[in-house]
Amino acid sequence: MKCPNCGTENPAGKIVCSNCGRRLRPGRQTVGPTMQTEEELMTRVRGDMRRLGLVTVIVVAVGVALGYVIR
Ligand SMILES: [Zn+2]
Repeated sequence: MKCPNCGTENPAGKIVCSNCGRRLRPGRQTVGPTMQTEEELMTRVRGDMRRLGLVTVIVVAVGVALGYVIR
């Protein structure tokens, strides 16, 4: 596979050029997984935020309950 940047012939299956380090397979293979990863990340972050909110509510509720018990 020829590098589109420097023209060096690289062995088939290589992902980056051995000469200049440029990606040899741009396009869908690069964009697809990246978009999926970003979506996945956003979903995970959103889930974490929800979980964090739930944990905060529980901690506050337990704290308030303990405060009443101790007093
Ligand atoms: Zn190259």
